Amino acid sequence: MLTIQSAQDWMVKANEYMQENKAYLTELDQAIGDSDHGINMSRGFQEVVKKLEQSSYDDVATVFKDVAMTLMSKVGGASGPLYGTAFLKLSMAVKGKDTVDKGDIAAGLDAAAQGIQQRGKSTTGEKTMVDVWVPVVSWWNEQSEIDAADLEKTVEEAMESTKPMKATKGRASYLKEKSVGHIDPGSASSYYIFKSLAEVLA
Ligand code: ADP
Ligand code: MG
Ligand code: MG
Repeated sequence: MLTIQSAQDWMVKANEYMQENKAYLTELDQAIGDSDHGINMSRGFQEVVKKLEQSSYDDVATVFKDVAMTLMSKVGGASGPLYGTAFLKLSMAVKGKDTVDKGDIAAGLDAAAQGIQQRGKSTTGEKTMVDVWVPVVSWWNEQSEIDAADLEKTVEEAMESTKPMKATKGRASYLKEKSVGHIDPGSASSYYIFKSLAEVLA
């Protein structure tokens, strides 16, 4: 279901969304953060694609390991280490597998979502990217097969669900009640990551 090629295609698409929506992500972070999320994501994914283009791979796990290492080293702020951890956990979960099927991806995304929460000391309902990753994992486990349109809808709803939330983690938490009414920037970038995944799985 995920091959070395489609794993790379996933990152190429994610990068396209990050570049196209750089200004939008920055706008979201301007409302409740420090206005750098678009810059962080566009730089990080640009570097990811560059790294993947320069390398050749024998397995999917190594693709994700390079994604993780690149995001950790090239993206500052909270999101770099958090996304780095997510892709590192995903890499570890598919290590040694010749084919990465629906169940492997489920296990990988579950490990990734847990990794983000451990690293961020966060949980659902705190208006962070966790509010996208956790519902996606739950949804994934309920499906007998992955419908791309349904995945995208699920992710979009999860991102929208952060709007009425009050932030209790990250920079947005400094704003307390004033964080209400805005989509969390990291949930929006996670939406692009999963929208890209839905597209390569379609
Ligand atoms: P910074 O806040 O350091 O400038 P970014 O703007 O790149 O970093 O990323 C901010 C995003 O990171 C938030 O919108 C949120 O989704 C996510 N985030 C911040 N802190 C945490 C945390 N403790 N746990 C999970 N996600 C977090
Ligand atoms: Mg920021
Ligand atoms: Mg910052």
